[in-house]
Amino acid sequence: MTPVRQSDFLVIGSGIAGLSFALKAANTGTVTIVTKKEHKDSNTNYAQGGIAAVWDSQDSYDKHVQDTLIAGAGLCREDAVRMMVREGPDRIRELIDWGVRFTRSKQKSETYSLAREGGHSLARILHYKDITGREIERALIQATREHPNITILENHMAVDLITEHHTEQENKVEGLHCYGSYVLEKETGQVIPYTAGNTLLCTGGAARAYLHSTNPDIATGDGIAMAYRAGAKVANLEFIQFHPTTFYNPEQESFLISEAVRGHGAHLYNTRGERFMLRYDERAELAPRDIVARAIDTEMKKHGDSHVLLDITHKDAEEVKTRFPNIYQYCLDNKYDLTRERIPVVPAAHYMCGGVNVDLDARSSIEGLFVIGETSCTGVHGANRLASNSLLEAVVFSHRAIEYICSHPHSPVHVPVDKIPEWDASGTENTEEWVLIAHDRRELQELMWDYVGIIRSNIRLQRAYRRVLLINSEVEDFYRRTRVTSGLLELRNLSMVSYLMIRSALQREESRGLHYTTDYPGAKESECHDTLLQRTDRPWNMAK
Ligand SMILES: Cc1cc2nc3c(=O)[nH]c(=O)nc-3n(C[C@H](O)[C@H](O)[C@H](O)COP(=O)(O)OP(=O)(O)OC[C@H]3O[C@@H](n4cnc5c(N)ncnc54)[C@H](O)[C@@H]3O)c2cc1C
Repeated sequence: MTPVRQSDFLVIGSGIAGLSFALKAANTGTVTIVTKKEHKDSNTNYAQGGIAAVWDSQDSYDKHVQDTLIAGAGLCREDAVRMMVREGPDRIRELIDWGVRFTRSKQKSETYSLAREGGHSLARILHYKDITGREIERALIQATREHPNITILENHMAVDLITEHHTEQENKVEGLHCYGSYVLEKETGQVIPYTAGNTLLCTGGAARAYLHSTNPDIATGDGIAMAYRAGAKVANLEFIQFHPTTFYNPEQESFLISEAVRGHGAHLYNTRGERFMLRYDERAELAPRDIVARAIDTEMKKHGDSHVLLDITHKDAEEVKTRFPNIYQYCLDNKYDLTRERIPVVPAAHYMCGGVNVDLDARSSIEGLFVIGETSCTGVHGANRLASNSLLEAVVFSHRAIEYICSHPHSPVHVPVDKIPEWDASGTENTEEWVLIAHDRRELQELMWDYVGIIRSNIRLQRAYRRVLLINSEVEDFYRRTRVTSGLLELRNLSMVSYLMIRSALQREESRGLHYTTDYPGAKESECHDTLLQRTDRPWNMAK
């Protein structure tokens, strides 16, 4: 009999959302953080630009709110946006108290340097050089390591949430409670129930559902898939933000080529040597992100190409090297001298605006299950995220969650420990064949890239839907027959999330924000609402 591991709080994920919540919760009880790789493997670690907040006396809450609402294209929940913006500066001060450093202003060293990014009406982005996320992770990890109430378990992967479905009420749909999660201990291969009165789902985004993605390989949508299987509501999964330019190298992880390179005068060419952006927008290469990404996608699809080319060779070489030392070096390492030749670029999936539907206190539709960070849909991003609002959203909602828990002493759910079944691995053979998993994963990513990408249509979405159903049933069948591994679990989650994204995209019969379809090219008032999905069939998450 494997023991149930118990704590007051179970936090799944060690990015900014999970760690900032854990640091607060640890003052009231014991916290176990499970994270599927090493603690630093997260999207947070990759964030470059910074974190937005009203910091300067010239700025105002109203301006930040307006900028966020405009970017969100009519779908933001205004109360959530107002709350996030108002509480932002206090949460930044807490980050500083936890040891996060932000770059100081050159003119006035007593204050911080504020950057301006696309969509912001003035400079309000606090940053640490161009590695803000890495600095936040460094400080938060150090603070959590020093806290006696926090245990961080690396290489521990959450498999499925534990609810009444595991405790004798298999068909319950309404009024569900979350008691924790089954967790795969990767070193031993054992799956063990980890229980808590409050479970925090902070597993990040799902951009790895696409062939090209700026995200590290942890971003497989595990939290969204687990929550959906458990019966929670998910929302707005059709809104995926694509970054227009990443270095094209199919053999390697994507590498961002910053918008600043286009800002410095770089031009985009298709493989026939045509400078195409002027055909799409009079601002050419300086048009907003989604317009540039859409134009590149159209050119690639029109000519059947795998990439387009970015050219900055007409600019002074020394200036380019000084201005972009990292990008220059990265390209050189990949055998391209940016100052002498055009470099291959592709857009890449970058950020998931939708997620598990939560309220202003990060509560999901399942009692005892809170969802924070990129896994959640709080309504602050609407149909398109304003740059640098996501790190802010994570710290604000983790604070809201702990405030709610502390002010509702009866909120932790009662865990019926003796009723929680052991993970049943009987009858499963160790038949994992990596080739099947790798093949299915690649097929899914290509399918999502080709049919559910930057430009969509009914025909492409319907074709994707039929194929994803098939992949889903094959993967589920394989899952039931096979001893679980992290690769198989990620594939299962990716196929579930892809299915949900396609269903959401099919439901939105308009183009709004990040969702663009040639069948409905404009926005419609009648479609101005969230896309909500909730499982109605038999539970997907029964222990095997
Ligand atoms: C290249 C890049 C640049 C960015 N730049 C910015 C920026 O400048 N400003 C900004 O605001 N945002 C930026 N973003 C977005 C931002 O970084 C993320 O939205 C944010 O960091 C998400 O934080 P999170 O805590 O929700 O998730 P993450 O930081 O992704 O953390 C998720 C955690 O969950 C773990 N996990 C996942 N599945 C499981 C499982 N099944 N079991 C256990 N653990 C699991 C992961 O290992 C990880 O530890 C950027 C993103 C990228 C990729």
